Amino acid sequence: MNTNLRLLTLAAALCVGLFTVNAADKHDHKATPKGGRLLEKTEPRAEFVVEKDRSVSIHFYSEDMKPVAASTQSVTVIADAASGKATLQFEKKGDSLVSKTKMPEGDGYNVVVQFKQTANSRPQNLRFKLDMHICGGCKRAEYGCICDH
Ligand SMILES: [Zn+2]
Repeated sequence: MNTNLRLLTLAAALCVGLFTVNAADKHDHKATPKGGRLLEKTEPRAEFVVEKDRSVSIHFYSEDMKPVAASTQSVTVIADAASGKATLQFEKKGDSLVSKTKMPEGDGYNVVVQFKQTANSRPQNLRFKLDMHICGGCKRAEYGCICDH
């Protein structure tokens, strides 16, 4: 093995090492099956997805990302769009929760997902910016991006 090759091998090994550490670090950016955003601190894990018709659906998964049915959870989404605030109510459809109305036009506005595990539990507020642009890295919409930026 000449020196150059040895250096290359070392560099490659370092790269793999860095990547592994990064991946472990980013467990909350786990790729959700439907390209949406994994909502933090939800159990079972909830995925927020803006559908093509701009309705929102919430899907649930076990820790190993197997689909599970919605049970007692309830969700309200508040979209703070340029055209004004919109509140979306949800109903159960199949195993998921689906919004009765659609997200306002445009994007780049703030969204609050009010998540209740049961009717009696305290609501959790999950805030993020709705960015519908497709990320060049992971090819998912930015609000569900799993890259490191
Ligand atoms: Zn990405």
